[in-house]
Amino acid sequence: MFKTYPIGRPFGVELRVHSTLLWLVGFFALSSLLSEGLFGAVSVLLWVGLLGVSVTLHELGHVLAARLFGIGTTGITLYPFGGIARLTREARTSGEEVVVALAGPAVNVFLAGLAAVPLFLVGPLPGLVPFLGVNVALAVFNLVPAYPMDGGRALRGILWHWMGRVAATRAAARMGQVFAVVFGILGLLSNFMLVVIAVFVYLQASAELRRLEWEAHYGPPPPPGVVRPTALPPRSSPFAAPGGGRRVVLRDGDGREVHITVMDPWEVLRRYRHGEGTAR
Ligand SMILES: [Zn+2]
Repeated sequence: MFKTYPIGRPFGVELRVHSTLLWLVGFFALSSLLSEGLFGAVSVLLWVGLLGVSVTLHELGHVLAARLFGIGTTGITLYPFGGIARLTREARTSGEEVVVALAGPAVNVFLAGLAAVPLFLVGPLPGLVPFLGVNVALAVFNLVPAYPMDGGRALRGILWHWMGRVAATRAAARMGQVFAVVFGILGLLSNFMLVVIAVFVYLQASAELRRLEWEAHYGPPPPPGVVRPTALPPRSSPFAAPGGGRRVVLRDGDGREVHITVMDPWEVLRRYRHGEGTAR
């Protein structure tokens, strides 16, 4: 039921749509058809089309900016709460982080400007005002400094320049948690989708804080693709390390066994199974 379907390859980037988005669009289109007739259903589909194009171009902004720094992508997926571009690695400098984070909202500012010109010269052509509104909203909402949203990532990049990557990430992730609670409360009072975004932001910010804790104890993990987990020894085995850490046996690219001590072996398994990609 929860599958993704490929819908195109703009700029060679695989674009997929999550089945929950298709179900939701179908539901809203059908209920509009029943309550307001064909016109209602068509206007719902036009709205979704405008939003989908704007979100996709926003994500392509991230992907193409990342490409400038040699960062690849495994594709873009559209969900009911927005789009996610998966990048193959994290930014290596504060400058990379800021440019990649701001590229998405910059696309929406550009699209809003593009829509404003004919609106100013000719007047409100059909679809122009909603397109302008959607892009202004996307730019403003994504720039809220709630890590891992774009504004939070840009904030992390700026702080990184002054206080180093680890302290900057910790500050941005804590701020992300605070914003997530605010989104959650506002969402419960107004819009359920905001609650979904709040949960997503909170979980991602918390995962980032756990990752930092992990790195502080055991150093940065080995590069992805080089090692693959082969076995997770039980806690009572001779591999169990003191201080709560556990020894994990990995195999490197040449088939040699690598023993590393980690705080949470399942985190290692998860990371290497799904690759080291980042979501934004
Ligand atoms: Zn974005």
